[in-house]
Amino acid sequence: MTDDSGDWLSSSGARTQAVRAGIRRTHEAEHGEPIFTSSSFLFESAEDAEAKFAGEIEGNVYSRYTNPTVRGFEERLCALEQGEVAAATASGMSAILALCMTHLRSGDHVLCSQDVFGATVGLFDNVLKKFGVEVSFVPLTQIDAWRDAATPRTRLLFLETPSNPLNAIADLPAFAQLSRDLDAMLAVDNCFCTPALQNPLALGADIVTHSATKYLDGQGRVLGGAVVGSEALIAPVVAFNRSCGPTMSAFNAWIMLKGLETLDLRMRAHCQNAQGLAEWLTEQSGVEQVHYCGLTSHPGHALATSQQRGFGAVIAFELAGGREAAWRFINHTQLMSLTANLGDAKTTIIHPASTTHGRLTEGQRAAAGISEGLVRIAVGLEDLEDLQADCLKGFSAVQGR
Ligand SMILES: *Cc1c(COP(=O)(O)O)cnc(C)c1O
Repeated sequence: MTDDSGDWLSSSGARTQAVRAGIRRTHEAEHGEPIFTSSSFLFESAEDAEAKFAGEIEGNVYSRYTNPTVRGFEERLCALEQGEVAAATASGMSAILALCMTHLRSGDHVLCSQDVFGATVGLFDNVLKKFGVEVSFVPLTQIDAWRDAATPRTRLLFLETPSNPLNAIADLPAFAQLSRDLDAMLAVDNCFCTPALQNPLALGADIVTHSATKYLDGQGRVLGGAVVGSEALIAPVVAFNRSCGPTMSAFNAWIMLKGLETLDLRMRAHCQNAQGLAEWLTEQSGVEQVHYCGLTSHPGHALATSQQRGFGAVIAFELAGGREAAWRFINHTQLMSLTANLGDAKTTIIHPASTTHGRLTEGQRAAAGISEGLVRIAVGLEDLEDLQADCLKGFSAVQGR
């Protein structure tokens, strides 16, 4: 913590850090988080310019290098993720790109969960392959398959837990052990839980990536991302961002700083609503299965309980009647937003098989458990009763009432 209040702050609780970390005293004169919209910064003298360019004294040179508002967000998120350094990026995808471009080279091999965000599959499959990086996609919950698929060139294990949309849970301490056995890095996309619910670094992961676009902002306003971890692993990511430029804008960092202040409260409310809706959905006729790790019937429930402080807010459920029923249900809801985004105060609803998982073959979808009757709801902060009433409109349409 470079903040001069760092001593008391670094020993304070996560909720205090979410509100206070990352803002230096000199800026605190303005009380809030000032937005520094400068592309470049003034030097006091030629000598000062030389020293700052050489990195001999700390200070801002150019916003691709450092920006005080972006730094504020990085330090606040870093404190919450219990890392040493955070690098903010323009989006979640540029966070994963920066991680890979920094730590992978031609000839390296990556083990990646089959259940990762669609664009992450595309990044590994279409982009990194061009540079000679090989990737194997492996089922998230079958850690033996990861061990079997490893090669002497395996350098990175990449996963999301809980998975999207079925809430499969990875045993993070076991994956941390596997990555040590393989002398590889374990990177966890902590988008669904956020540091309010899960700290992968404390559970043994080497790197956390974020799509800050989701819960860290929490209100669907801007894109952002971050990579967090040890100084040794993240300082080179910072250097990559400085050279290559996928940096976060000061405005977006300011939005994210405000988002983090309410992260803990929002995540509690998201989880409570999701639990209520998931339990209620299990009782509705026409629902064949509800996939939510907060339900004791979910295969990942015990594991989620052991490593998460809450179960998140993404629910998937299967309707009898396949695609026709799922589309009918979705088309007759009125409150929930029909969009692929998640991590918003507004509840969103989507049909994964024809959208987020639409580019998979039928066989791949079946293997991933994405059935035609599956509906995903990313539960927001509205009144639970109103979400239930909206779902009832969907159920009535499906049942032809
Ligand atoms: C949205 C998302 C991403 C990509 O983030 P962007 O900010 O859209 O680039 C990565 N991982 C997960 C789990 C996501 O949900």
